[in-house]
Amino acid sequence: MSCLMVERCGAVAFKSWEQNAIQVRMLADGRLNTGHAGVLLAERRGSYPLIDLRILKTSAQQGEVETVTRRKVKRLLSFQRYCHASRLLRGLVPHTPRSLHLLDDDYLGQAAHMLSKVGTWNFDIFLFDRLTNGNSLVTLMCHLFNVYDLIHHFQLDMVKLNRFLGMVQEDYHSQNPYHNAVHAADVTQAMYCYLKEPKLAEHLSPLDVFLGLMAAAAHDVDHPGVNQPFLIKTRHHLASLYQNTSVLESHHWRSTVGMLRESGLLSHLPADMSRDIEQRLGSLILATDINRQNEFLMTFREHLDNQDLDLQLASHRHFILQIALKCADICNPCRVWELSRQWSERVCEEFYRQGDLEKKFDLEISPLCNQQSDSVPAIQIGFISYIVEPLFEEWHRFTEPSLLSQTMLDHLHKNKANWSSLRCAHTPSDVQSHSQAEEPEGEVGEGSDIP
Ligand SMILES: [Zn+2]
Repeated sequence: MSCLMVERCGAVAFKSWEQNAIQVRMLADGRLNTGHAGVLLAERRGSYPLIDLRILKTSAQQGEVETVTRRKVKRLLSFQRYCHASRLLRGLVPHTPRSLHLLDDDYLGQAAHMLSKVGTWNFDIFLFDRLTNGNSLVTLMCHLFNVYDLIHHFQLDMVKLNRFLGMVQEDYHSQNPYHNAVHAADVTQAMYCYLKEPKLAEHLSPLDVFLGLMAAAAHDVDHPGVNQPFLIKTRHHLASLYQNTSVLESHHWRSTVGMLRESGLLSHLPADMSRDIEQRLGSLILATDINRQNEFLMTFREHLDNQDLDLQLASHRHFILQIALKCADICNPCRVWELSRQWSERVCEEFYRQGDLEKKFDLEISPLCNQQSDSVPAIQIGFISYIVEPLFEEWHRFTEPSLLSQTMLDHLHKNKANWSSLRCAHTPSDVQSHSQAEEPEGEVGEGSDIP
């Protein structure tokens, strides 16, 4: 297939993705925001292990037993980690309130050194995750809560905070190539960089910062590794629970509320304040639904054209937090190539796994999920052109003058050029071995002024 054909396929796939989203949104006109009588329903944790293949395969009892056992083992390990963390905390907290708490001694120095540069755009979250023994999300969040003094400000109980963060991290599926706890940590790190933007930082209240970081950390929790159309066409119970609209995002939010309540993290706050926090977390997490991209982009563009954003207003700050979280969620193509490429390969691997599952069960293969025809470079070029570039151009307008935004756009353009070189260098069938994709000549590894 020629380069042109691949690009056209990519464009069609992204357009049909959007059309499908519009249809789904129209079908579910009466959106499900809160439960009956305005009472916010929390989902029970662990209610939805992976994707429930019993809907596709009836003889899955064995698998069910294995899943339960695996969960029990995970919980036990989590408890041991929790005890270990508590011991460390008792020793460290009084002396070094702004330091790192939860690391194994061997890697403490290296990980702590990395944390001293957590606000730089070339932060290597994969390395950080290895140095923290798979605890990047908990470690990063504890550090950032200390940086912003949120524990003191909200009078948070450290044991409850660690319990909550441990639950969030544990409920990400480590077997997902992309939607796992490292992605959550990556989004949180990006969010931190955006919260530091001078245009925004001086206006943010401690509650804004708290919500921004919490939403980033939990925004994909318990992601099953398949997308909404898959859940709808397999009649998954989550799809009917959320009326086919923002199915995954609603699940991430309700699960987060469940964990907040189970951990008791906010139980000392007045009831109306913790309810408000739950609602605002929902509004942030639901904004990450990629099907609502145009809605947010148009509103953002309108505000910038009219120059009417007033960050003294809590509602405007909340809107910018929604945009910041959306940017953080899709910022992979704005990272330095070596990191960006790893994320691209991971997300495509997750798409292909869904495609394989659809093929196996005689379902129509979803757009972008066919490894035979949807190459990694073509998917990335479509994603960058239709989703990432338009949003980051507006973010650049908002943050101007911003060295970080300029750096991100520079990376974005370079990475797009790299994918174009790779797309033309390989036929789609060659790209099956995408993990060994060659570096395009002269396009990568160039030094850049990363803030
Ligand atoms: Zn995400």
